[in-house]
Amino acid sequence: MNCLHCHKYIDHLHNTSHVLVRDLSIFGRLVYLKVPRRKYYCNDCGRYPTQVGSPLKTV
Ligand SMILES: [Zn+2]
Repeated sequence: MNCLHCHKYIDHLHNTSHVLVRDLSIFGRLVYLKVPRRKYYCNDCGRYPTQVGSPLKTV
């Protein structure tokens, strides 16, 4: 991805965390969306821009 701050290309992945987002499905069941959040490290500006991926549905 590209750095959000200085727009240089980064391929150094720092870590990946997951965020659980509560969601209601169409059947009224409680559904959690697992959203991956990748944290990168930018060598150029020394910051940690994060990239939020597409949610994975877990029941
Ligand atoms: Zn940067």
